[in-house]
Amino acid sequence: MSFKKQHQQAFELLSKVFLYGWIVTICILAAYGLLYLLAGVVGDGPLSSILVYYGTPVLAVVLLLLVGNFYVYHGFGSQADIYRRGSEEEKKVALTFDDGPNPTYTPAILEILRRYGVPATFFLLGSQVDAYPELPERMVSEGHEVGIHSYDHLNLTSLSTPALSSQIFQTIVAILNAGGKYPRFLRPPRGLYNAQLRRLAELLGLRIVLWSLSSEDWMPGKSPEAVVNRILNRVQPGDILLFHDGGGLINGAKNNRKHTVQALPQIIEGLEAAGYEIVPLTELLDKASPEVECPGEVVFSQDF
Ligand SMILES: [Zn+2]
Repeated sequence: MSFKKQHQQAFELLSKVFLYGWIVTICILAAYGLLYLLAGVVGDGPLSSILVYYGTPVLAVVLLLLVGNFYVYHGFGSQADIYRRGSEEEKKVALTFDDGPNPTYTPAILEILRRYGVPATFFLLGSQVDAYPELPERMVSEGHEVGIHSYDHLNLTSLSTPALSSQIFQTIVAILNAGGKYPRFLRPPRGLYNAQLRRLAELLGLRIVLWSLSSEDWMPGKSPEAVVNRILNRVQPGDILLFHDGGGLINGAKNNRKHTVQALPQIIEGLEAAGYEIVPLTELLDKASPEVECPGEVVFSQDF
């Protein structure tokens, strides 16, 4: 077996250990807590001696697992490859929509965007693109940007390297087949990323883009007024605003996107009345200053 192959296998094993580190940590803590209680019941004896003797190493292992788990999910230090917002110096924001394209809600949203003449970025699911290939082409021809959300809306941090690559590649192929351009942005479902995803994104020239203000339009029972108020009361210059044009992923078919469609005109009017310019994500990120975690350069020094 080549060294490269051995290294790859070791990395996958380490990733798995740390991804499930929180489960292991809880088990160790629970077992230790139980022993501690038992020691109290039986009083001084061999059990107490074991607890005293192994206390420090056990706590060290727990700490290592917690730190490792955090590292695999988030990395440490500056994360120059993860974009969360644009520059705070200009009154600009970007609209982004996840989970589409959807045959009902996406055309309704595109129609509103066309009426107001504002751009948006759609983070697409490859499976939805394969089902409705006419929509990405329309997005691009109407001046919007498209990015990758994944193929099946899976938690990308729990996948093996081949499964993760397949989620991304299949979505790129679906977008290209549908007449879209090669995507430049990637937003993992629920914003969950790890070192493996970051390396793949770097390799493929994709920028990982999260958000700074969620409309929470996916929450059941959230009225259009609540969505409008949440955005207009909290918006800050440079915000990346998160909406959803696909429905039914979290709470089944009942969770439709009607409220997003109803809220959108008021949100656009409210943002413009407050002096905000709605710009494409590319423009918002390219004008970002390095201190807001959006430099153009990709840095991977903290990954193993
Ligand atoms: Zn999603």
